[in-house]
Amino acid sequence: MSETEASRVRNGDVSWWWRQLGGAPAPRAALAGDLDVDVAIVGAGYTGLWTAYYLTRAQPDLRVVVLEQRFAGFGASGRNGGWLTNTVTGGRERYVETRGRGAAIAQQRALNDTVDEVIAVAAREGIDADIVKGGELDIARTPSQLARLQAAVADEQSWPHTDVELLDASAAASRVAVDGVLGGVWHPHCARVHPAKLVRGLAAAVEGLGVPIYEQTRVREITPGRAVTDRGTVRAAHVLRATEGFTADLAGEHRTWLPMNSSMIVTEPLPASFWDRVGWTGRETLGDFAHVYMYAQRTADDRIAFGGRGVPYRFGSRVDTDGSTQQRTIASLAELLRTFFPDAADTPIAHAWAGVLGVPRDWAATVGHDRSTGLGWAGGYVGTGVTATNLAGRTLADLVLERDTELTRLPWVGHRAKRWEIEPLRWSAVNSIYTAYRMADRAEASGSSARTAWPAHVADVVAGRH
Ligand SMILES: Cc1cc2nc3c(=O)[nH]c(=O)nc-3n(C[C@H](O)[C@H](O)[C@H](O)COP(=O)(O)OP(=O)(O)OC[C@H]3O[C@@H](n4cnc5c(N)ncnc54)[C@H](O)[C@@H]3O)c2cc1C
Repeated sequence: MSETEASRVRNGDVSWWWRQLGGAPAPRAALAGDLDVDVAIVGAGYTGLWTAYYLTRAQPDLRVVVLEQRFAGFGASGRNGGWLTNTVTGGRERYVETRGRGAAIAQQRALNDTVDEVIAVAAREGIDADIVKGGELDIARTPSQLARLQAAVADEQSWPHTDVELLDASAAASRVAVDGVLGGVWHPHCARVHPAKLVRGLAAAVEGLGVPIYEQTRVREITPGRAVTDRGTVRAAHVLRATEGFTADLAGEHRTWLPMNSSMIVTEPLPASFWDRVGWTGRETLGDFAHVYMYAQRTADDRIAFGGRGVPYRFGSRVDTDGSTQQRTIASLAELLRTFFPDAADTPIAHAWAGVLGVPRDWAATVGHDRSTGLGWAGGYVGTGVTATNLAGRTLADLVLERDTELTRLPWVGHRAKRWEIEPLRWSAVNSIYTAYRMADRAEASGSSARTAWPAHVADVVAGRH
């Protein structure tokens, strides 16, 4: 696809997921002045809403409010790829380093259980989010990707509760017939979801429990006992930060988590003849082993939603433009989608959008609460927070209520990473990482025999992943 064609694709409007639900929801009321409560939660994405949900169910008389700068589900929670998966991008090595192998295994088990917890709560609360638990399929399309995939499977199999299965080319293709697939790995702990339906339903469930969600209310600063907004100050014994990729905008938090962009496109619905050839009957989520990896799902109405990193980072940690993405990103995602599925070449791209996620300096997610100040936080999920946000919400609830539970003993609790570098170092580091990953993907696609082309090793070192 040329950039001119890409310029004709509908772009932004937060996400296609929201567009499918009729656009941004009717706004809820903003905060109407100063307020005194027990718990103020900043951010109405999955993290903030799950936290409100579990806190209020555990202690119904607690006065909890959620403060949201735009609307519930405006952030990554209303824009993501809909992988409710037990797999997290970073973290395991850090947790082993800091808390040992047993703790890392406990974290894995908790994430497995969390996939089922989200599905169970959705059923209990009557949230229809197109959920199908068909597992996660990740494939290789070059020899280098295949070597990485095989090494990753061997590594995963050395850990309990990962339940991964190595698939040869024909077994992988019999699940999803991707052009040129050389092999795959599948595990059962993943469901496809419609992200905006999930966050919309969750917000309604939270309101149903009596928790007000104040929208169009931007928090400028968080200090012990106070969330200072542009519409008044909320005084609260506990103030919980659930702002993820937007955290850099809060006073004092500019270098805490780097805001990284991820972009998606979605096709128009594909005909039955396409699905007869491609299969994908299990609705597995689909990913690959490229360095600049892709992720996809078959939607409930038979489209392909397909994502990957476009321009990953904007100078100065600038975050969001209501979801619009660059034309060259749309063009490159469309090209990749059509290489995966040549039969979709003539199917128009219906929409493109981007979202922002939070990356800690050590790529390890964290949740915590300081009893002495009442300040709490959760986030830094890198690209995998749909499941982790629920675990974070349950954990934050336990921490605030001062309960000592299995969840509060997990290794990500209280985990801290150092801050990101100042600009322009931050910008040059992230851009060199992604330039190196792209170079490595190109080298591997053109036949580099090394298991991982060298630029990717350099990038991993710069990123702090090794
Ligand atoms: C394109 C894309 C695809 C992804 N795909 C997947 C996937 O398939 N699977 C997966 O596991 N993860 C995926 N992720 C990551 C996942 O979506 C996130 O980890 C998760 O949604 C984070 O939820 P959250 O509530 O912490 O943050 P968000 O959903 O970003 O919510 C934060 C909220 O806080 C509000 N806010 C921020 N600052 C303030 C402030 N100062 N005052 C008031 N409100 C504020 C924002 O408006 C926003 O609503 C993807 C992310 C993106 C962007």
